[in-house]
Amino acid sequence: MKLTGNLFIGAQEVSATAGTMKALNPATNAEIEPSFAFGGPAEVDRAARLADAAFDSYNNTSLAERAAFLERIAVGLDAIAPELAQRASLETGLPVAQLEGEATKSAAQFRQFATVVRQGRFRDATIDVAQPERQPRARMDHRMQKIALGPIAIFGASNFPISYSVAGGDTASALAAGAPVILKAHNAHPGASELQARVIQQAVKDSGLHEGVFSMVRGAGNEIGEALVDHPLIKGVTFTGSEAGGMALFRRAQQRPDPIPVFTEMTSVNPTFVLPTALAARGAALGDGFAERMLVTVGQACLKPAILLAIDGPGYAELKHAMITRVGAMSARTMLTPGIATAYRKNVERQHDAGAERIAAGGDPQRKWDGQSILFEVDGAHMLEDASLSEEVFGPAALLVRVKDVTQLIALAKKFRGQLSATMQIDQPDHPLAARLLPILERRTGRIVINAFSHPQEVSYASIHGGPFPATSDSRFTSVGMSAIERFLRPVSYQGFPDDLLPEALKYDNPLGLWRVTDGEVSKT
Ligand code: NAP
Repeated sequence: MKLTGNLFIGAQEVSATAGTMKALNPATNAEIEPSFAFGGPAEVDRAARLADAAFDSYNNTSLAERAAFLERIAVGLDAIAPELAQRASLETGLPVAQLEGEATKSAAQFRQFATVVRQGRFRDATIDVAQPERQPRARMDHRMQKIALGPIAIFGASNFPISYSVAGGDTASALAAGAPVILKAHNAHPGASELQARVIQQAVKDSGLHEGVFSMVRGAGNEIGEALVDHPLIKGVTFTGSEAGGMALFRRAQQRPDPIPVFTEMTSVNPTFVLPTALAARGAALGDGFAERMLVTVGQACLKPAILLAIDGPGYAELKHAMITRVGAMSARTMLTPGIATAYRKNVERQHDAGAERIAAGGDPQRKWDGQSILFEVDGAHMLEDASLSEEVFGPAALLVRVKDVTQLIALAKKFRGQLSATMQIDQPDHPLAARLLPILERRTGRIVINAFSHPQEVSYASIHGGPFPATSDSRFTSVGMSAIERFLRPVSYQGFPDDLLPEALKYDNPLGLWRVTDGEVSKT
């Protein structure tokens, strides 16, 4: 597919109004053709007006129509998967095979959300039947369903250029909810972004939908993102990236005359607790498994297990040795962008300055933006004193914490800020200690894993990729899994409505055959 470098404003392709950029191949440090257009607030305004114009018709598409649209996107992604993976690899330095997997995962997400749409449970159809005879006051018929919030601005992430980017889970779940999407493309992979945008734009056309259902903008600096968050026709925002960026956008949205929800996914170190019996029984295997997971995708993953805590005792030396061996054998690999590589080196220095001892290092960097794999160790008492040691180092570094005893382990667990996930490696005799840790972890994380590692994450009905601040800005929601759709929905109650004016999901004879809650009971009536 030929890349034009244009912006996508509804059905239109728009050339640059605010300069251009070229993608950078981080492995060679060379620019890649073609030039990609930057737009500004005027393009945001056009896209937002189109999205607003599309809202009523798109929000009211039948479940079957909307599901078919999502499936068209999935088919389009499948068709371009090899080309998309090649381009994304050039722009990110990530391996082609991994990116083909991401494309497959993205297509699967659109199909999963098509199923969610067909099931119609997201409508949450709830009915309180009229009670005209009720004393002392008759009850009117009340019916509730959920509809889409309105046009949503989505900030594509840098680190997963497909599955958290243009055709990622945020887009799939917003479109499933009935919300038009304006995508702010990440400048780290403009070609991969365009390929995905083309697929979505074509699916909009083939489905006979209003062109404003999808637009993609790109800009230099913060101006375009700020214009999106400020635009009065935008009704919600999703973001994956740094805590500084996420919180700047969150605060901005709260200062609007009409504040809107901003769902940010920002930072997590995904602590792993190896409890004593498991440590003694399989310390080496756990150390190796942890190091293998932390190095995946050059450590540039929000679910990277970054901190391992274990009480010094039987198995600790084997665990440490296995971690050192795995990290030491890893050659340096290209990081996603110069900015991310620079931040990584700075944060590695920060860990060192904070008193963590460097106990292993992989091969030296060969290219400009290579990230060297690093393993640090620190003792639990020191970690308790310096909160900076539990901050994220985005890249292939991890911290092993040598804990004195159970009391110190519990104290350390309580020190963590909000996390996307936490893991416990346990054997049967560890269960009482795991039970003590559990409520501490529940208060701090969105997902607790036993006897596996935090990465990867299933994308399914019970998946949670969320957690208390600063993992996210709203711990009530997930950005991955089928419940991600909830971020883009709000309830509306219809009181005293005649059948012909009711939405399909709430009509008296349940023509969609939905599971509904009627007078508190779940049924298909
Ligand atoms: P980022 O700097 O937070 O940027 C993410 C997106 O938001 C970009 O499109 C960026 O636009 C935009 N943006 C950021 N701050 C903004 C602001 N104040 N106003 C308007 N738009 C704004 O993230 P990144 O570029 O992906 O990587 C930087 C760092 O973020 C990494 O080193 C890492 O520490 C962290 N990160 C964490 C995760 C995670 O999952 N935990 C994932 C990715 C990155 P511009 O590019 O045009 O500035």
